[in-house]
Amino acid sequence: MGRGMGGGAGFAGAPPTATIPTVDVEKCVGCGECAKACPFGAIEIKDGKATVNAALCRGCKVCASACPTGAIS
Ligand code: SF4
Ligand code: SF4
Repeated sequence: MGRGMGGGAGFAGAPPTATIPTVDVEKCVGCGECAKACPFGAIEIKDGKATVNAALCRGCKVCASACPTGAIS
């Protein structure tokens, strides 16, 4: 007993990179809707393209819903 609990001992937190959205620069038109929508201020528009700050992003995917061109996944 005490073992075989699904191997959850290491589940203190998901790997941070797992939930950070990807911006498709081919689709991004730099409108800034994602940056406005992000509750954590994790998106900046740089050179006309959205850039996610991985240190601030919480992986909520609000930005993906806000993007009119479907550039964020
Ligand atoms: S997933 Fe959430 S926190 Fe991360 S950039 Fe998008 S809106 Fe911001
Ligand atoms: S909402 Fe979409 S198209 Fe607009 S800046 Fe963000 S990623 Fe680019």
